[in-house]
Amino acid sequence: MPVLAEALRHVGHVTIRNRGTIGGSLAHADPAAELPVALLALDGKVVVQGSAGTRAIGAGDLFVGPMTTALEPTEILTSVRIPRPDAGTGASIVELARRHGDFAIVIAMALVHLDGNGRCDMVRIALGGVEGAPARMEAAESGLLGAEPSGAAIEAAADAVAAGVDPIGDIHASESYRRDMTRVFVKRALAQAVERAKGGVA
Ligand SMILES: Cc1cc2nc3c(=O)[nH]c(=O)nc-3n(C[C@H](O)[C@H](O)[C@H](O)COP(=O)(O)OP(=O)(O)OC[C@H]3O[C@@H](n4cnc5c(N)ncnc54)[C@H](O)[C@@H]3O)c2cc1C
Repeated sequence: MPVLAEALRHVGHVTIRNRGTIGGSLAHADPAAELPVALLALDGKVVVQGSAGTRAIGAGDLFVGPMTTALEPTEILTSVRIPRPDAGTGASIVELARRHGDFAIVIAMALVHLDGNGRCDMVRIALGGVEGAPARMEAAESGLLGAEPSGAAIEAAADAVAAGVDPIGDIHASESYRRDMTRVFVKRALAQAVERAKGGVA
């Protein structure tokens, strides 16, 4: 799953990557962190253990707000499960940050699988850094399903994502800049995922 290595390249610097843990980053739930976005796009889940027993939490239910997860105070995250994408799935993660290693202003990740006729039969788009929590963009995903991933279709999906987000504004980027960059980076992620799907590269 080379896209996970690509995601990690955006995380801080060597020391941060060596010391930080995958479980720690997911439990920390920084809205601008890369691994939560990857977990969402890859449709993974975490297994947590507490005094009441063990349960699995899907990525879609894990991130509930800024630095907030669905873990109870008595629970600890013990493992992470990521299903292997179907062969031929193309994946991409792209990011805008002020400097390499900074927390992201926009993270866009896309996964695309094409059927025998070159139409999208699986699309996932996940965003980080834009809203208060990382999120899947399901309405835009549905818009691409069954479609040929032409430049115009990708552009329409990126427009749909940008129109549908509720961006935060802070000292790093205004709300409208984040929305504009969301459009640009979703388009790049989708285009690269489609190219990789055509080439059979995950
Ligand atoms: C200078 C700097 C730059 C950074 N840049 C980036 C970046 O660009 N991108 C990025 O994604 N991250 C970045 N990080 C964050 C870093 O990658 C780690 O993800 C983060 O610090 C968590 O580290 P940790 O694994 O040591 O967890 P900790 O710091 O130990 O824990 C973080 C939180 O999660 C809880 N926690 C940890 N493990 C578990 C568990 N198993 N179960 C339940 N709760 C748990 C802790 O109680 C704590 O509340 C940066 C950090 C620093 C210091």
